[in-house]
Amino acid sequence: MNYFDLYNFDPFIIIGKNISDEIFANIKNNFTMKNYKDKENNILIYFSSLNDGISFCFKNNILDSIFYYNEKIEKYSKYKGKLPYNLSFEEKNVNIVEYLGDTKKKGGGKYPIFLCYPHLGLEITFLSPNWNDLNNPIIFICIFPKNNNEKYCSVCTNKINNEIFYCNKCKLIFYCSEKCKNIHINFHLKYCDKEFKK
Ligand SMILES: [Zn+2]
Ligand SMILES: [Zn+2]
Repeated sequence: MNYFDLYNFDPFIIIGKNISDEIFANIKNNFTMKNYKDKENNILIYFSSLNDGISFCFKNNILDSIFYYNEKIEKYSKYKGKLPYNLSFEEKNVNIVEYLGDTKKKGGGKYPIFLCYPHLGLEITFLSPNWNDLNNPIIFICIFPKNNNEKYCSVCTNKINNEIFYCNKCKLIFYCSEKCKNIHINFHLKYCDKEFKK
């Protein structure tokens, strides 16, 4: 592979690759580059395309995160390719919680709300800071290296220590107990049945 299809690629195959890898030649030549230093003195290099609605962030020369934009933020166009986990920009926050469950890693209030699923390497940010807004659209989706040590019950958000209860279809959604699984699994399966069918 000397290039990847910007509209149909598996982000987890390219995350962790070095900026010098030839698969990045196209984005290095055509995308806008910006450099930052974060608080820990890491060098962050962003390659972004407003037209394509996508941005790649390299941390110390290693691809660390990918941002897929809806048309609602800054000057980005809507990303028109295949989103990770078969997500869709049409889904609102209420649909995402039905599909992927609740999580301990979430935020909002002062800022737009977000839902972060570390074991999926996925964070979804919404337009409004209001949790009660059930029609809150996605503004961008971020993909980063998966952390399999951070799995939370999709209902009560307790940390998962024993992986006994999960969705048998996709094996991506976890529960702390039979009780929590029974509360959520049928909501999840509406999406899992649809989205993971090959
Ligand atoms: Zn639970
Ligand atoms: Zn599933």
